Amino acid sequence: MSENKNLGLNTICAHIGEVKDEQFKGAVSPMYLSSSYEYLDVDVKRYPRYFNTPNQEYLAKKIAALENTESAMIFGSGMAAISTMFLAFLKQGDHLVVQNTLYGGTVNFIKEEFPKYGIEYTFTNGYKVEDFEAVIQSNTKLIHIETPSNPLLTITDIKAIAKLGKSKGILTSIDNTFASPVNQKPMNLGIDMVMHSATKYFGGHSDICAGAVASSAEHIERIWNVGKNLGGSLSDMTVWMLERSMKTLGLRVKAQTKNALKLAKWLNKHPNVSKVYYPGLKSHPEYKLAKSQMSGFGAMLSFELVDGLDSQKFQKALQLIKSSMSLAGVESTVVSPHLTSHALLTQEERDAVGITDQLVRFSVGIETIKDLKKDINQAIENA
Ligand code: PLP
Repeated sequence: MSENKNLGLNTICAHIGEVKDEQFKGAVSPMYLSSSYEYLDVDVKRYPRYFNTPNQEYLAKKIAALENTESAMIFGSGMAAISTMFLAFLKQGDHLVVQNTLYGGTVNFIKEEFPKYGIEYTFTNGYKVEDFEAVIQSNTKLIHIETPSNPLLTITDIKAIAKLGKSKGILTSIDNTFASPVNQKPMNLGIDMVMHSATKYFGGHSDICAGAVASSAEHIERIWNVGKNLGGSLSDMTVWMLERSMKTLGLRVKAQTKNALKLAKWLNKHPNVSKVYYPGLKSHPEYKLAKSQMSGFGAMLSFELVDGLDSQKFQKALQLIKSSMSLAGVESTVVSPHLTSHALLTQEERDAVGITDQLVRFSVGIETIKDLKKDINQAIENA
């Protein structure tokens, strides 16, 4: 557990993981750009690809404090984080059980790369704990979940998955990108490893590509051993920018989450919207579960426009809300998952999980809510 457990969210965001400027007493962390450090008579041999430059080492402390873990590592992208984590715990002959509703890039990584390493995998048929239990094999070494999932916001029972893993001696990992630690702390629910696309809420301004994994010191050491070989570290300049961004993580995500709940309720009653996917709506099938394991329902939602309205035309007609591929910035953005995050899946695979061509994924920003509603209404009129 993190030693900063008792600090409040915004105190952790603003202060933990600062590199103190002992020389000039500046208010913010100095940026250490050296890619070469003293190696004689030093305890730590620092090198960017060893994930241990001063800025990397200290920012990892902030992430560990936020996820309430002993340790953490920062990567060059979310995919670098997830691939390094998987390859640290899976070798030839091992088996991964993985949720079927998952970020498309993760699906693609598993399908394209695992066969080359001789690693077996099974995608579940659903996201209930029974669906995971049903596909466990004697060689299963890891269960990986994503909740809320991208883009349909399904909710997986984190505690039940952690319990299942523990009862079978199988490690568990989660993609916590959509919730962020502001809304969900899976480690407190028994999950072994938490990963993030830090490109999303951690960065929060649509100008950083990064990833992170948080876990026990023992697991992070194992991930580090593989990470230094794969070389997915993040440049110190970007680490510094990420630290600055994360100072406002709590403020941003709370404001975005508040906006998302209001918008989801409004869209749910909108005559031109046929379906809204948001775990904070009482009509969401796992509303109670989401309420029990999340402190807020997050700022991602998806919706389908009624038949007859063109989702592409709708997006093009938006004036304030941007049509944009990534998510979680302070500005609201929309995207068609079938053309972006899940474009690499086949039509049948998309149909199987319910990703239709009418689906619009909405990353809710910090804007004033009435302006967002106005923009959506005028775009619907022009769709
Ligand atoms: N996990 C989720 C839920 C994502 O949405 C993404 C990116 O969209 C990733 C992982 C991959 O992260 P990155 O693009 O930073 O490699």
